[in-house]
Amino acid sequence: MTRQSSILFIFMALLSEAIYGQSYPTGYFSAPLDTPLILVGTFGEIRNDHFHSGLDLGTGEQEGVPVMAAADGYISRIKVSADGFGKALYVTHPNGYVTVYGHLQKFTAPVNELVRTTQYSQQKFEIELFPKSKDFKVTKGEVIAYSGNTGGTTGPHLHFEIRDEETEEPINPLLFGLRVTDNIPPEIKNVRVFPMREAGIVGRTDSAITYEMQEMNGHFSLNTPDYIQAHGYIGVGFEATDKQDLSMATLGIYSADVSVDGTQVYSWKQDRFNFKDTRMVNAHIDYLSKRRENSTIERCFRLPGNFLNMYGDTNQTGYLDFIDDDSHDIKIVVKDFNGNERIFNFLIHSFSTLASEPFQKVPDGSVVVSYSKGVAIHKEFLDVVIPSGAVYEDIYYNDTEARTKTYLSSIFHVGNPYDALQVPISVGIKPYEPIADSLMSKALIISLHEYGQIKAEGGEWKGGFLTAKPKQFGAFAIALDTTPPKVVKEYVPADMNSYRGGIVQVRITDDLSGIKSYSGKLDGKWHLFEYDPKSTMLTADLSFLPMNHEHPIEVTVTDERGNTTTWTSKFWY
Ligand SMILES: [Zn+2]
Repeated sequence: MTRQSSILFIFMALLSEAIYGQSYPTGYFSAPLDTPLILVGTFGEIRNDHFHSGLDLGTGEQEGVPVMAAADGYISRIKVSADGFGKALYVTHPNGYVTVYGHLQKFTAPVNELVRTTQYSQQKFEIELFPKSKDFKVTKGEVIAYSGNTGGTTGPHLHFEIRDEETEEPINPLLFGLRVTDNIPPEIKNVRVFPMREAGIVGRTDSAITYEMQEMNGHFSLNTPDYIQAHGYIGVGFEATDKQDLSMATLGIYSADVSVDGTQVYSWKQDRFNFKDTRMVNAHIDYLSKRRENSTIERCFRLPGNFLNMYGDTNQTGYLDFIDDDSHDIKIVVKDFNGNERIFNFLIHSFSTLASEPFQKVPDGSVVVSYSKGVAIHKEFLDVVIPSGAVYEDIYYNDTEARTKTYLSSIFHVGNPYDALQVPISVGIKPYEPIADSLMSKALIISLHEYGQIKAEGGEWKGGFLTAKPKQFGAFAIALDTTPPKVVKEYVPADMNSYRGGIVQVRITDDLSGIKSYSGKLDGKWHLFEYDPKSTMLTADLSFLPMNHEHPIEVTVTDERGNTTTWTSKFWY
C-alpha cells in the first residue's frame, strides 16, 4: 500500500467507524443451534429492571436440543444456579469474545462429571467453576451442552450471548452476521407526550398523556378527537413491538430515530451495553406506565440520571421546546435488526395561550429529591435515606404513616412507587413496642403490594430500627416470621401411580421471609438435590444409589429468619 492510499484507507476506516459504529467480525461465529434461528427474545429487549443481554432462541418447546460451540475456544466458566441462567456455559474464543449459553438442561459427560464431583465435595447444588484453557477445548460446531429450561425461564429455550472478553459487555449477536428470517416491520402501539414539570403543558394539563394507535384501511393514526396540543418544554415517547416470521413471540425493536420538522432530535440502537447500567432501563422507559399499565413506553428524551450509552448523538437530549403558535411534524422511525422499518408521523400543535394553564402545585409536605442530591429523613418511627444517584429526575418525596394492628409497626408509605430507583434506598422502621429479645432475629421488613401481595425485604437492627434496603418505593412494615418452611413429598419411586423413574422429588416453600438454604441426605449421606424455585421442586437423581433396599431420606430447609424444617421419610428402590 502506498503512503497516500494507506492514509486514505485509515481515513475510510475511521469514517466507516464514525458512521456505522464499531465493527465486529462477521462469519467468525456460527449459530449455536442446528436449526433456523427462531427468536423468542431480542438483544436489548426491555425486561423488568434490565435490558436483555442476548438472544433467546426457540427450541420448539423442547429440552435436550444439542447446543454447539459458536467458534473454536475453551470452556472458561461453568455455572449452576437455581435462578438466573440456571445451568450455563461460557466459552472464551481467541478473538477476544466470550459466548454464553444459558438455561441448559445438562452439559456433556466430562463437564457433568466435574460439576457433580464439585457439587459433592462442596455439598452444594449451586456452584461456579473457572476451568483452565487446556481443560475443555472446543471446536466450532461441536456439541457442548443440551438446551433446557433451568433458572429464570418461562419455557424451554436457549439464551445465547456474545460478550467482549475485556469489558464483559454483552454485544448484539446479530452484529456478528448471524441470520434470522424476518420480513415483518415493527409496530407502534401508542405515543405518549410528556410535559416537563412546571415547564410544559400537554392537552390542557401538565400530566403526560398516552394516545393509542388506531388503524383504518391500512392507515395508522392516533386516537385523539382533534390533534395533540402542547406548549413549552415537552418530550415524546412511544411503545413499539416487533415480530419475526418464524416466531410467535413479541420482540423488542432494534433502533429508533425521532425527528421534529425534519431535524433528527434523538436516536438509539441496541448494539451493546454494560451490565452496571442495565437497571437504567427504568430511566429509558416511562416507569409509571410500566408499573401502572404494564405498557413499555420508550422515552425519546434523556432524563438527567440516565447514562446509558445506546443513544446516537450524546449531545441530543431529545427535549422539545415549543413556544410558537405553529404545528410541528414529529416523525418516528423504528427498525428491527433486518432493517424492516415502521415510519409514523404525527402533528403537535403548539398554542402560546396554553402557557397560561396552571401547573400542578407541589404536594404538601413534599421534599424535592434530585438525581445528584440525596436526602435523609429522620422521624420518631421512620428513618429513610435516599442516596445521591438513586432517582433519575427530580421527584417529590413524601411519606405517610397508617396505624394498623396487623403488623408490629405502622405501615409507612415511603415515596411514590411509580418513581424508579437506580440504587436501593434505606428504610428503617421502629416497632410500636420493643420486640422481645428472643424474637428480634425473627423480625423482617415487608413491602405491601397490590392485591394483598407481600414481599420480604429482609432487614437488620440498628439502634432500635429494623432497616432494609428496598429497590422500590412503596409501603413497608415490620412483620415476624416464626413459621418454618414446608417440605411436602411430591414423588418417591414406590409411588407406582406416578412413575417418573429413579428420582425423588419434594416441594419446598416458605410463607414469608423466603428460603435461604436447603440440603438433602439419602442413606444418611449428603445427596445432590437440584432446586428449581419456579416449580418449588427439589429433585434428586437416584442413578448412583445401590438398588433393592430401603433408603432413609432427610431434607432440611431453612428460611431467611433462621426457622428450620427437617423432613424425614423412607422409600424402597
Ligand atoms: Zn435470555
